[in-house]
Amino acid sequence: MVGIIANAWAARDSSGHLSPYSFHLRETGPDDMVLRVLYCGVDHTDLHQLKGELASSNTNYPLVPGHEVVGEVVQVGSEVKNFKVGDTVGVGGIVGSCGECILCNSNLEQYCNNRIMTYNHFYKDGTPTQGGFSSAMVVHQSFAVKIPDNLAPEQAAPLLCAGVTAYSPLKQFMDSGKVLRGGILGLGGVGHLGVIIAKAMGHHVTVISSSDKKREEAMEHLNADAFLLSSNEAEMKQAINSLDYILDTVPAFHPLELYLSLLKTEGKLLLVGAAPKPLQFVASDMILGKKAIMGSYIGSMKDMEELLNFWVENGLTSMIEVVKMDYVNKAFERMERNDVRYRFVLDIAGSNLELK
Ligand code: NAP
Ligand code: ZN
Repeated sequence: MVGIIANAWAARDSSGHLSPYSFHLRETGPDDMVLRVLYCGVDHTDLHQLKGELASSNTNYPLVPGHEVVGEVVQVGSEVKNFKVGDTVGVGGIVGSCGECILCNSNLEQYCNNRIMTYNHFYKDGTPTQGGFSSAMVVHQSFAVKIPDNLAPEQAAPLLCAGVTAYSPLKQFMDSGKVLRGGILGLGGVGHLGVIIAKAMGHHVTVISSSDKKREEAMEHLNADAFLLSSNEAEMKQAINSLDYILDTVPAFHPLELYLSLLKTEGKLLLVGAAPKPLQFVASDMILGKKAIMGSYIGSMKDMEELLNFWVENGLTSMIEVVKMDYVNKAFERMERNDVRYRFVLDIAGSNLELK
């Protein structure tokens, strides 16, 4: 059977401009579910991908982005165990992995060499994957997570990539038994969730930002404990050797020396921002402080489940701007200008995606 037709928005070339597009969803198997997409978050990785600027992957067009997908289950395969029609589920950055390797068997499937990205990638049979800026989606049951009943679907969307990208590297510091001093570098989609999650873990949180206008927002709306303007030399100097970790979410080139100097001895720079150009640092800055730079990629399905529970248990709320699909190009323009507070979420089900 040829799959259901989905109405979506896609980019046709590296201008990144999105316009209506329809395509056949892949055929379903016994382990698959069909989702009616409700909401989808807009991540800066979508922008990198649309423009074909990531060194790690070539962009194939037409490209339907979106990997913070919340949908309603409308069809389940015969082997689907943990979901039923009517459930609200989430899909994040990957939709497949080998399922057999040591990484897949230790809840690190996002690092599996055979992982399948939610879009701009290929299923094993060569069919291209397409993301959540679409009326419908097919997903394997192992790559969907149940959205808790008491969490609004639009609130859940940013947690599925941005949230878990912050949670997964921060979780090593949970239950450390002392008040850690953490820095969140870059107050955007990932960064603002980083602040909320680190605060809920009980850390003392410093926002490090290039935008002075975010000072008040960070301190008052997000409850951060301190704010550093990265271009203010005096402020930055005062904070030298003060942080146990920095979650670096900056999507563009930035010299690391400045930020490494803020770390205490044995401090860690947790790199999640995917700057397209090579980053740089001075070796002695690392050596003399026994410092580490650690990369981290999204989170596992287990991390996602943990985060959703952690979020609900702590009564947390993200700061999102819900818009319709016809605003999506404007949303990316505003993201490029660093003018997002702090995550766009597309109301997919509430947008008319029928092709005219
Ligand atoms: P975003 O909403 O655009 O936020 C990025 C923030 O970085 C901005 O709000 C801004 O904060 C700061 N920034 C500094 N220099 C900038 C510049 N030249 N252009 C734009 N922003 C600049 O992005 P996001 O969705 O949080 O994603 C951040 C990065 O993480 C992207 O590179 C994305 O690809 C990556 N990412 C990685 C993973 C992963 O698995 N590792 C997952 C999701 C996203 P201030 O105004 O405070 O300086
Ligand atoms: Zn694997």
